[in-house]
Amino acid sequence: MTGFDVDLFVIGGGSGGVRAARIAAGHGARVMIAEEYRMGGTCVIRGCVPKKLLVYASHFHHDIEDAAGFGWTIPPATFDWPTLIANKDKEIARLEAAYTANVEKSGVRIAKTRAVLEDAHTLRLASGEAVTADHVLIATGGAPNHGRPIPGIEHVISSNEVFDLAALPRRILIQGGGYIALEFACVFAGLGSDVTVVYRGDNVLRGFDQDVRSHVRSEMEMQGITILTGCTVDKVDRHGQEFTSHLSNGSSIASDKVMFAIGRHPNVANLGLEKAGVAINPGNGGIAVDGFSRTSVPNIYAVGDVTHRINLTPVAIREGHAFADTVFGHRSVRVDHANIPTAVFCQPEVGTIGLTEAQARAQFTAVDVYKASFRPMKATLSGRDTRVLMKLLVDASTDRVVGCHIVGDGAAEMIQVLGIAIRMKATKADFDATMALHPTAAEELVTLRTPSARHVRAANL
Ligand SMILES: Cc1cc2nc3c(=O)[nH]c(=O)nc-3n(C[C@H](O)[C@H](O)[C@H](O)COP(=O)(O)OP(=O)(O)OC[C@H]3O[C@@H](n4cnc5c(N)ncnc54)[C@H](O)[C@@H]3O)c2cc1C
Repeated sequence: MTGFDVDLFVIGGGSGGVRAARIAAGHGARVMIAEEYRMGGTCVIRGCVPKKLLVYASHFHHDIEDAAGFGWTIPPATFDWPTLIANKDKEIARLEAAYTANVEKSGVRIAKTRAVLEDAHTLRLASGEAVTADHVLIATGGAPNHGRPIPGIEHVISSNEVFDLAALPRRILIQGGGYIALEFACVFAGLGSDVTVVYRGDNVLRGFDQDVRSHVRSEMEMQGITILTGCTVDKVDRHGQEFTSHLSNGSSIASDKVMFAIGRHPNVANLGLEKAGVAINPGNGGIAVDGFSRTSVPNIYAVGDVTHRINLTPVAIREGHAFADTVFGHRSVRVDHANIPTAVFCQPEVGTIGLTEAQARAQFTAVDVYKASFRPMKATLSGRDTRVLMKLLVDASTDRVVGCHIVGDGAAEMIQVLGIAIRMKATKADFDATMALHPTAAEELVTLRTPSARHVRAANL
């Protein structure tokens, strides 16, 4: 028992904060958590979960089209956006209530308010109440970043607003080339909107394997999505319900909605970090932390998107759990940020783990590349013009599989399971020794016999 009001005060009721609060309470700590918006945070309220529901909704378009080749005659289908959004809202409200109930059940006190640091041990709530805490966890997440101010930026929506549009836009322009931009491009295209993606770089999905980037782009273009690279939106004009986006290449595009998904910034502003002495990482703008999520102030920790390390829900959860075990469970746990499986829920989806080909070639002297691009079985009867990409990268000197990249239906599910093998340092021989499961797309991963390339780095002379 300390002289503080609580042993732990958590700022932010999202993925990281909720997990940390519950685990710390389970270890016997007196915990309070503050949430200024809705319990569950970005993932539950306006991120992963509602996004995936919209992704499911948009898939039906393809499924209905594909059914014809299998003998089905389906009368012209209609889609009702307000029904989808109302059902999505109901599910999100259910999840929010479940989060709240579980947190309360674990003995954590919830303050439905904004909290900021007054000093290293004092939190000020919006009501004016001050709460003292032995330890503080900052788990305030991140927010969409619209980039430089451009004329008409007030007309632009972000992923925060996209989940609550009153109507399905007939035409939408989305600026951005990352996973959120591409996922929404495919969602809207699947639901019947005319979609244009504008991205300043040379190709979408920066940071992903080059083959994945070009495969995804061509698949999206085949679905009728226009992708304009090497340009930006410089100005947005409004004419009644319509918008004109003026691009840096001199062209302009009319649409019913303009959405930017060009990045997210960590929520560090106006939190009282300076008063408490919490340092920012100059490299990424997030809160600077060590391997145990400890900030520059010994009793203050930070987890999740606010640290801007790897902005994914399972990572925030793992960091929050590790923090609680380390500080209150007397068991030092450091989160391993290597080999995190990730997905892009575009259509077809991407699943990836480990190194890209470029990273593997930079890291290892000899890299074998195994690659297959093939027509999925379902497409033979549906007639859909689509291909699956599968790629394995192998460190030739140890035979270890150091990267795996899949574009195709089910890629996310495949890569989650494959993640176990990669973490266990599976070799290409282990893949080869695994019996294929026929007929699946995944069997290709264990039947890739011949490398499509071997890259050997020339010795430095
Ligand atoms: C559109 C979209 C799709 C995504 N899809 C995926 C996906 O498919 N898979 C995946 O793994 N990740 C996905 N993410 C990322 C994922 O949502 C985040 O990585 C995750 O939510 C981070 O959790 P967190 O606890 O760090 O922060 P958050 O979940 O953002 O929670 C922070 C909470 O703190 C609250 N808060 C902030 N400041 C204060 C304050 N001063 N006082 C009180 N409360 C405060 C906020 O209201 C918020 O609820 C997606 C994100 C977006 C935007």
